[in-house]
This record gives sequence, C-alpha cells and structure tokens, in this order.
Amino acid sequence: MAGCAKDETRTRIKQSTVSRQSALIAAAIILSAAAAYAAQTGTFRVHADGVNSAVASRLHADLVWSEQRIDGMLGDFPDPVVVRVHPTRAAFDAALDRDWGIAETACWMVGAADDRTLHLLSPGAWPDQACEHDPADRDHVRALVAHEMVHVLHGQRNPSDDIGRLTEIGWFTEGLATWASGQLDRRHASRAAEALRTGAAPDRLADAWAGPYRYGVAGSMVAFIDDAWGRRALRSLLTATSQEEILGTLGIDEAGFLERWKAWVRTAAPG
Ligand SMILES: [Zn+2]
Repeated sequence: MAGCAKDETRTRIKQSTVSRQSALIAAAIILSAAAAYAAQTGTFRVHADGVNSAVASRLHADLVWSEQRIDGMLGDFPDPVVVRVHPTRAAFDAALDRDWGIAETACWMVGAADDRTLHLLSPGAWPDQACEHDPADRDHVRALVAHEMVHVLHGQRNPSDDIGRLTEIGWFTEGLATWASGQLDRRHASRAAEALRTGAAPDRLADAWAGPYRYGVAGSMVAFIDDAWGRRALRSLLTATSQEEILGTLGIDEAGFLERWKAWVRTAAPG
C-alpha cells in the first residue's frame, strides 16, 4: 500500500476468535443503529456502513471530483476501486490490519490505499478520533481524498506489486499525489522555497520525502517535471519502479535534476 503512514508496521497480528466475534457483534450494532450507504458509479464502489449518510454523500462527491481531476491530469483508472469508509477508528484499524497487517494507526492517519482499495476514516469521526485534520474544511477533505486516489491510480499503472515498498522513489510517489490532488497549491506552494531559504532542501532525491517540508519539496519536484518535461513525460513515469528509471526517462542525472529543480523553485517562488 502507499498510505501516508510514518508509523506503519507490516507485522500482522492475528485476531483471536474472541476478538473476531466481538468485532462482528460491534459491526452488527453499528449497522442496526445507522443507515448503510453503498453506491457505485463508474470506477468506484463505495461502502460506508454505519457512516452518517450526509458525510457519505459528500465523500462520494469528493471521489467523483477526484476521478475527474486525476483523469484529466494523469489518465483514467484501468481497474475498479473499492472505497471503504469506516465510522470509527477501531473499524478503520481493523480493516487495515486485515488487508495490510497494519496493527495500529497514528491519530493523523485517516486514509490509506493500495491499487484496489481505499480505506478512509469517516470525517464524522475526526473531531474525536483524529488529529491534524479539520472535517469542516471541505477543500482539505476533498484534496485528501484525491491524494489517496492518486496513489490508487499510480498503483494500478505501476508494474510493482506495492508502490509503497518502492521507498527509493517515495519522493515521486508522494510528490505526485501532493501535486495532482491540489494539495501543493493549497497548503504547500511556498514550502519548497522556504526549504531552500533555510538550508533544508535535500542534497539527494532519497531525502526529498523527509522532514517538515516534504510535501512542498516532493510536490514541487513533480510540478517541476510537469513544467520542464511536459505532461506526456510525467505520465510515462507512472510505470517507473526505480530512481534510475525516472532519471533515465528524463535524461538527466541526480545532481543535474536537483540543481535545475532548485533554480526552478527560486524563479517560480512567489515574491
Ligand atoms: Zn500519500
């Protein structure tokens, strides 16, 4: 998977029969207490059992918006996507454990995806069960959904079984999602320039997805590729599985790329 989890662990913890039974009972209670929401349009099949129907409906609109945006920028989704919206952190964690062996999630983690499935913690649960995310900020929620959907598309296009394991090109994976989701424009536009000014810019691409400026730095690198090489070249990188392949496609070495990116950020930076 290519979630945005700093604290991921791949250790699968087996549920005991007892805990599985209590999870089933809990799920039954949630289902009987709230309306089930399921919808399918084109690429998506959305499951949002136990989630407030207004919240589920808004998320569905965010998914449609995301698909249109991503389709226009990077091309269409080759395969269908199952979207599971979970009403509680406990349900979200149980699903991630079941699908990817992630036993526990940090409070800021509200979404994760592989190439078939997108798991989201319902924004209705964010005030009590998440941190660093404001469910009332509609643009933030929408961009977050789009970010995860970019990971799904990337996973579908990439020959690797799991783009989340291609840590060498983590800067490209996360930069692509930050740029194509609109998060770069919204929250991180000036962060790359700030990193350069404060001496925090990376000297190696492998370090670009690290530290407090990572969204702005990695996102601006992908924006730079789009600007300097064009959309067709950028789209062709979706199948790359190594840094060597990315740089080879662009016809540049790592030092040259970083030098040109820094010059581009300095001239493109507002003010
Ligand atoms: Zn991400």
